[in-house]
Amino acid sequence: MRVVVCGIAGRMGQRLGNLILDSDDLELVGATERPEHEALGRDAGEVLGRGACGFTVTDTVATAQADVVIAFTSPESTLVDATACAATGTSMVVGTTGFTPEQLAQFHSTVAAIPCVFAPNFSTAMNVLFRLVEEAARILGDDYDVEVVEAHHRLKVDAPSGSALRLAERAAAGLERNLSEVVVHGRQGVTGERTRQEIGMHALRLGDVAGDHSVYYGAPGEYLELRHHATSRDAFATGALRAARFAVEAQPGLYDMGDVLGL
Ligand code: NAD
Repeated sequence: MRVVVCGIAGRMGQRLGNLILDSDDLELVGATERPEHEALGRDAGEVLGRGACGFTVTDTVATAQADVVIAFTSPESTLVDATACAATGTSMVVGTTGFTPEQLAQFHSTVAAIPCVFAPNFSTAMNVLFRLVEEAARILGDDYDVEVVEAHHRLKVDAPSGSALRLAERAAAGLERNLSEVVVHGRQGVTGERTRQEIGMHALRLGDVAGDHSVYYGAPGEYLELRHHATSRDAFATGALRAARFAVEAQPGLYDMGDVLGL
């Protein structure tokens, strides 16, 4: 299966590229970076710290040779890549987070005619947690306050993380609340007592944390914490490659990791 990796020099791009080079069934056939990045024009294998693989990193995605394009970059560049994939009917796997509502609507309509797996978190365990969080919220109900706390490395540019938002959405779904009406991002000053309906969200940025998410459910006398630690980016990269194998066989449409895992 022929794969193009967008953002090959990035943290996720590096792990994806190396796992593809190490796999038996995947072939790296293209790699992109943003204009003016020092990796442009260099052999993609060398950018991955490996031997030369015979093609260079470009600033536009060439879909003609690819079965699937994987993008973990920025919302703006992912929209450009999605347009290229839609034009040639090429499958996509997208892990980029931080889309504005307008960008998200544009992305959804652009990929509507191709198979596309789009997920805020490609780790298997995190996708199990999405289900558990909704179920716990449903069982515990309105008596328990819900707060979501996430930690990521200091270089992350969006907050809260896409995974934290998904966790909060799932908790809200279990409580039959609309997240946008009850979410409270951080607290400062004299905020007054916590309302019973609100779902709090908090983002820590420190060091090199790959991803740490907790959902708390608190009532007088106890609290429950459901927690996921990503100990390396391989949890996301291996999941994205699993999604790529799924996407090349899938009918056109938008899928998420739950579909890939059969959850
Ligand atoms: P990063 O900054 O290390 O890598 C992003 C790469 O994309 C950079 O090398 C950057 O130069 C490149 N890029 C930017 N514009 C480009 C363009 N126009 N063309 C080609 N390349 C371009 O970031 P990262 O930690 O690898 O994360 C990337 C994205 O993936 C973020 O949105 C992050 O939140 C998300 N992410 C998602 C998951 C998941 O499981 N869904 C996991 C980890 C990260």
